[in-house]
Amino acid sequence: MLELNRDDFTKAELVKVMRSDDPELLQELFSTARKIRKEIQGNKIFAYGFVYFTTYCRNNCNFCYYRNSNDIERYRKNEEEVLATSKALIESGVNLIDLTMGEDPQYHQEKFETVANIIKKIKGEYDTPVMISPGVVSNEIIDNLADAGADFYALYQETHNRELFAKLRVGQDYDERMNAKLYAKEKGMLIEEGLLAGVGENEEDIVDSLLTMGEIGASQVRVMSFIPQEGSPMENCATPDRMEELKIIALMRLLYPQALIPASLDVDGIKGLKDRINAGANLITSIIPPKSGFMGVAHNTMDVDEGGRTVEEARGILDQMGLRIATREEYKEFIKEAGK
Ligand code: SF4
Repeated sequence: MLELNRDDFTKAELVKVMRSDDPELLQELFSTARKIRKEIQGNKIFAYGFVYFTTYCRNNCNFCYYRNSNDIERYRKNEEEVLATSKALIESGVNLIDLTMGEDPQYHQEKFETVANIIKKIKGEYDTPVMISPGVVSNEIIDNLADAGADFYALYQETHNRELFAKLRVGQDYDERMNAKLYAKEKGMLIEEGLLAGVGENEEDIVDSLLTMGEIGASQVRVMSFIPQEGSPMENCATPDRMEELKIIALMRLLYPQALIPASLDVDGIKGLKDRINAGANLITSIIPPKSGFMGVAHNTMDVDEGGRTVEEARGILDQMGLRIATREEYKEFIKEAGK
């Protein structure tokens, strides 16, 4: 059997694990991933609040519900609404606020001034780390977001196979997207890279993504399973078997022991939390306050108003697993190390 407790895998070994359905190997894979996480951070799990503050977007990604051509109801929240929701999330115990948006032309027109103000307030008044997920923006805007104090810049290629990228992110430039991320890193922000599972990739593509994430120095690396979206060109494509996502999470943990690796509630709601944590994730994302009028991305309303995507619910599940939500101070300490 492959020796798993190490981070110097060859590409062929990683592909082999992705292709394997040997129960013994998979069990070993997940338990090794958990062991590595435990060595790094004991029983702590981080938690992020998700604030999707505008669902307008100029792009037409084929996998996305919010693509420009989809005739759906959209919203754009104002500064007060974003701050009120962020405050409620912080009070509920999240460690970071993830400010996510579509590529909303209105914000581009005003050069992200409102967004910079929101970041300054969350950092200054609420003393909480911020991740900004604005899509592709100019270097000048990245400068402004970094100056406002954003800790993280999240921007996902979704695949590192350029042909597949062109099919998924129609009309967008692979290098422009990648360069924005690299520029944000150069400016001192931590970066998050991500991939989508089940969109036509093969095992080699996945491994290329995993290795690229390390090469670009991403501090947070995420995978989410594709969920078909009504009204999108991919609405009739099937969602993949979750084992693919779980294997990728575990391999990320093996390759990058210190990385922040999300267990996203956006894919399968709160019932999907345990499996992802058991695969080696160390972070819960897409926590959304109930009845706030804010949406998720892949499953835009799943578990939200029922209160399923809260710190409280997650805490109950972690408790049964002998784990706990980290404090904000513990999280800050962790990302300080990540930035070194
Ligand atoms: S994935 Fe992002 S950039 Fe693409 S259409 Fe959806 S919101 Fe816009």
